Amino acid sequence: MSIQAQKVVTINYTLKNDAGETIDASNDNSFCYLHGANNIIPGLEDALAGKTSNEKFSIVIPPEDAYGEYNPAIQQVVDKSMFGDEQVEVGMQFHAQADDGNLIMITIAEVNGDQVTIDGNHPLAGVTLHYDIHVVDIRDATSEELEHGHVHSHGHSCEH
Ligand code: ZN
Repeated sequence: MSIQAQKVVTINYTLKNDAGETIDASNDNSFCYLHGANNIIPGLEDALAGKTSNEKFSIVIPPEDAYGEYNPAIQQVVDKSMFGDEQVEVGMQFHAQADDGNLIMITIAEVNGDQVTIDGNHPLAGVTLHYDIHVVDIRDATSEELEHGHVHSHGHSCEH
């Protein structure tokens, strides 16, 4: 079976940056997604198309096919009072609703007295991604999964 639309794909992966530092890895929790449903970044979905079970490969994905270029325009300075009683620290992340209604991840970039710089870039914006991928399993999606556009995994298992 090869990877194509309407398949549920299970992979193990290691993700590194240009410096060779590991940013993320599946470790003991295999990752699964529904192919062809925009569940994952476009560069990774393209690279996985046509691959078969047990295949291992490496792929380098530029920011434009991953989390986008870093956009300095979506940094904003806000007043600390906006956070109420909450402790505000550099590196803290929270979700906020964007103008288009989508949830975006906001990161606290700087705290200077009462001035807090928040950054709406994805933490991996501007980062070239180096993936080592092992395709563990490919199965047909259920009709319910296709209807929902995502995988229904039970517990840690990606099997239906
Ligand atoms: Zn669902």
